[in-house]
Amino acid sequence: IASSRIQALIDSMIETLRDSPGEGLAASQVGENLQIIIIEDLAKYHKIRPKKLLAEQDRKPVELTVIINPKLTIVGTETASYFEGCLSVSGYVAVVERALRVKVSGLNREGKPIEIEATGWLARILQHELDHLSGKLYIDRMCPRSFMTEKAFSLHWADKRAADRTHCMQTSL
Ligand code: ZN
Repeated sequence: IASSRIQALIDSMIETLRDSPGEGLAASQVGENLQIIIIEDLAKYHKIRPKKLLAEQDRKPVELTVIINPKLTIVGTETASYFEGCLSVSGYVAVVERALRVKVSGLNREGKPIEIEATGWLARILQHELDHLSGKLYIDRMCPRSFMTEKAFSLHWADKRAADRTHCMQTSL
C-alpha cells in the first residue's frame, strides 16, 4: 500500500473521480485488477437535485474516503429502490434495489484499518463500488424496464420522489 505505484494509482483515481465527476470509483474501472475503491459525495453535487429527494434518499455529503481490500456486510433486511448511474455505463440510469444499511471494513491509504457503518445513499455507493470489484455493474441488478437515458430521466423522472419505486415495482407485473 505504501508503494509509490499504489499511492500514485490512488491519486490518479481521485483525479479521475473529480474530473468525471462521480461519487465513487473502483480500481477495476481504470483497468487495475486491485481491490481499491474511493468515494466522495460533495455538497456541490447535491445542489442540482431536489432537496426532498436528497432527504428521502438519506443522502449527505461524504468526504473523500479510500478503502483498500474492502469487505462488505449487509445489515438487516431493509432495502430501497432508486435510480443510479455509473461512470462505466455513461449516459444511462436505472432503478436498483439495494440494502439500506451496510458495514464496510478495510484499510485506508496509510494501511490502517477502517470501518464504515453506512445507511441510505452512502450504503448504496458502497454496494455499487464493491460490486465493481467483483465484476458486477448496476445493470446486472437493475429493474430492466427502468433502464433509460439520462436525458429521458431528467425530462420525466428527476423530480419524482417516490415514483421510481412504483416504476420499479411495475417491472415485475
Ligand atoms: Zn459504477
